[in-house]
Amino acid sequence: MSTKKTKQTARFGARYGVGIRKRLLKIEPLQRQKHECPLCGFKKVKRVSTGIFYCGKCNTTFAGGAYLPKTTSGDIIKKMVEQKSFMANLAQLISVKEGSVEGSILNLEESRKEKTDKKEKKEAKKNKS
Ligand SMILES: [Zn+2]
Repeated sequence: MSTKKTKQTARFGARYGVGIRKRLLKIEPLQRQKHECPLCGFKKVKRVSTGIFYCGKCNTTFAGGAYLPKTTSGDIIKKMVEQKSFMANLAQLISVKEGSVEGSILNLEESRKEKTDKKEKKEAKKNKS
């Protein structure tokens, strides 16, 4: 069962807190998707566990990101190892923000700030009148 607002996190009811459920909602549909296999190219890769992915087409199990088989920071590390130059890409690695998850965390923090701002404005209006 799913509802309009909570979607698949409705299964948790009111538990664990809104913030965590919102974060899960951002990543869960992506991690449950079938991904493209880096070896055979078929869209048959499923997440087995944290960082472990399995291709149903060519029977390979490989390591990847915690939720997705490929991450931007993982790609940079791979490049570093291949080129054996670690300092050159360091700045790039530090600046990387793993798209959806960290972005959503930032958004949450921003929305919290906005909420507190609105509260302060309301209080200010009350004080004026
Ligand atoms: Zn494969």
